[in-house]
Amino acid sequence: MAKIKMATPIVEMDGDEMTRILWKMIKEDLLEPYIELNTEYYDLGLEHRNETDDQVTIDSALATKKYKVAVKCATITPNAARMDEYDLKEMWKSPNGTIRAILDGTVFRAPIVVKGIEPNVKSWKKPITIARHAYGDVYKGSEMKVPGAGKVELVYTAADGTQTKELVHEFDGPGIVQGMHNINKSIESFARSCFNYALDTKQDVWFATKDTISKKYDHTFKDIFQAIYDAEYDDKFKAAGIEYFYTLIDDAVARVMKSEGGYIWACKNYDGDVMSDMVSSAFGSLAMMTSVLVSPDGYYEYEAAHGTVQRHYYKHLKGEETSTNSVATIFAWTGALRKRGELDGNKELMEFADKLEKATIDTIEAGEMTKDLALITTIENPTVLNSEEFIKAIATRL
Ligand code: NAP
Ligand code: MG
Repeated sequence: MAKIKMATPIVEMDGDEMTRILWKMIKEDLLEPYIELNTEYYDLGLEHRNETDDQVTIDSALATKKYKVAVKCATITPNAARMDEYDLKEMWKSPNGTIRAILDGTVFRAPIVVKGIEPNVKSWKKPITIARHAYGDVYKGSEMKVPGAGKVELVYTAADGTQTKELVHEFDGPGIVQGMHNINKSIESFARSCFNYALDTKQDVWFATKDTISKKYDHTFKDIFQAIYDAEYDDKFKAAGIEYFYTLIDDAVARVMKSEGGYIWACKNYDGDVMSDMVSSAFGSLAMMTSVLVSPDGYYEYEAAHGTVQRHYYKHLKGEETSTNSVATIFAWTGALRKRGELDGNKELMEFADKLEKATIDTIEAGEMTKDLALITTIENPTVLNSEEFIKAIATRL
């Protein structure tokens, strides 16, 4: 069989610990036998980030702007313990944060649904993708403890010095106060990322805020989404047979719990933080959750939602057997390869991505899985495979 060719590279961001081990196995057993893999390789492993003063992370993000598609392995975000472990020059920032700051955009998290790993919510049949706005609100808030009686106001000083004031509260005793903000431009790119991703994946978009109470702040989110939808997306959505739906956040939560899934739930920063953990844990496992950063300029970076699985790596280093789930990392690759295929008109590559995903799901549904899934599956007497055996079992089906 001739190998599938790739005209344009994808940006490959290698990473750390157990996921770095899986990365190599996935390439060797599942990709390279079938594809003439064309990647521009960046080693985001912590040692190499340290050697390059983290320049490699910046370079990999800039390369993503050039080639539009990247696939990323999980990476260590250094903390005090890692400073000693890796003898670091500096406590380098989170690579994901650095990449997101360069590419801008929204992170979409979607569970991989398989028979035998049943969601806790019985009605959920299809994945629910959470799109979390990653800028502002309480995450960039400023707060004060109000010690006693007094007046708190919001003050806006325009460039020409004129001031507008709004009373927050006339305190007659101690209390607390918080100021937060967002930027129209950021909300606009959030909206476009959601609408573009919906067209990409042929799914409806649900968006919800508390605009009945927050008549200026949340209402602005609602208005910006609607204006962009009407001006740029209405025709495209109709042609694709999908819809944009706005409701109140409490109504959205009630509907989500009763829904079948199969849509994108766009969330403000805080809602997304909270709801993504609820949705992902209810779907079964962090190891079955994919993540893609979609920039408003049409750049895509695919990865698994989980970390480097440090505990398993230390076992691996001691020569012990591991049973680490590679599904989300495999789906990061298939996501990137399919997108590459789509942008380049490379049908073979897109079909390969579909086949690899199917082989992965079929393997689990046939009862062959890693330990994390064996513990929660409804399939009777599953076969527990180690990290390598699981990937080989997928290769056999592929
Ligand atoms: P983690 O790697 O997500 O793992 C936490 C625990 O979840 C594991 O110990 C394991 O539980 C389970 N788990 C996660 N993924 C699994 C998989 N694929 N297969 C089987 N079990 C899995 O989080 P962490 O251990 O807290 O963080 C490790 C490193 O990852 C940190 O340095 C952190 O900075 C980094 N991190 C990176 C990213 C990213 O690059 N996107 C995201 C999060 C964290 P058991 O041990 O009980 O089996
Ligand atoms: Mg959270």
